[in-house]
Amino acid sequence: MTGTEGVLTVDLGAVSANWRQLAAMAPGAVGAAVKADGYGLGAVPVARALLAAGCRHFFVAHLSEGVAVREAVGPGPMIAVLNGFPPGIAGAEGLVPVLNGLPDVAAWTAAARQAGRALPALLHVDTGMARLGLDVVELERVAGDHGLLAGLDLRYVMTHLACADVPEHPLNSEQARRFGAACARLPAVPRSFANSSGLFLGPDFASELGRPGCALYGINPTPGRPNPMQQAARLEAPILQVREIPAGAAVGYGASWVAPRPSRIATVAAGYADGYLRALSGQATGILAGRSVPLVGRVSMDLITFDVTDVPLPAPGDRIGLIGPGQTPDDLAAAAGTIGYEILTSLGVRYRREYIGA
Ligand SMILES: *Cc1c(COP(=O)(O)O)cnc(C)c1O
Repeated sequence: MTGTEGVLTVDLGAVSANWRQLAAMAPGAVGAAVKADGYGLGAVPVARALLAAGCRHFFVAHLSEGVAVREAVGPGPMIAVLNGFPPGIAGAEGLVPVLNGLPDVAAWTAAARQAGRALPALLHVDTGMARLGLDVVELERVAGDHGLLAGLDLRYVMTHLACADVPEHPLNSEQARRFGAACARLPAVPRSFANSSGLFLGPDFASELGRPGCALYGINPTPGRPNPMQQAARLEAPILQVREIPAGAAVGYGASWVAPRPSRIATVAAGYADGYLRALSGQATGILAGRSVPLVGRVSMDLITFDVTDVPLPAPGDRIGLIGPGQTPDDLAAAAGTIGYEILTSLGVRYRREYIGA
């Protein structure tokens, strides 16, 4: 008896190759965003693979993610925590907070004074996202008095692009201009600017440290143009049952799909609880025996159904491909009305993760 769970195969060779490709392209150093469990693919194996490839800067969102990545990569690399964290937390040593506003700066300079030594930090300047980072008033204050940063070992000044995936968007060059102006008024430290898409925007977006995430995992950082990255995720789930139904029979919740002809239906062990989004109902396909088979009926919590009428002899235990070369995370995202990031970061914990290419 094999397990009924789906299998998510992560190609660490592809992730590493993607990182090398970006690192070769960028004029400065290139790190890796491994937040959200490495965009759903596993932060620890991904970080280890990237370390072996030469990556020395990792970005996570939360302290707990940083602790896990530190265990994976050892003491050397920089691990920056984008959402920041208060000083003095046991176990946070060696993790570098991103300071996202003056209150963060005040807390860390006070901690540095108390510790009697400089504390490492990244300083985040908002240049047009109004999400995190020093706003214009806070920037004015720090620019007018660098003493406000006393005791901080500032590793990088960073900002984040809002529209990097739309190269012609006017906010891109505006953010580059504002970032340049901000850096000119701050202490001279290296800058960290581009995310994945930003690395493709040209020299105005170069910095001493890029912070790509999605492109490492195979998401197209240049939407509308051919994807320059390698696919890193393959998802397959087993058929639990195959049944024959007459024309006119309905499939699934809401009886939303009615067989137009006598049909063969394969019920597969994945559902919206696994991140196979309910919005995909009627919009996606699977790959079975090299053929594309349409998803029919609604996506349920743990089950989905495919019309496999045209496939010879499908059997329970056969695996249907849900994500792969023929149906990338970006393809699924388009079908569900979302972005590849959400497809990957929704990949459920019930899938068995297998790693290849390490
Ligand atoms: C997530 C994130 C990144 C990586 O962005 P991608 O679009 O996935 O390359 C970089 N910087 C910050 C601040 C982020 O939050």
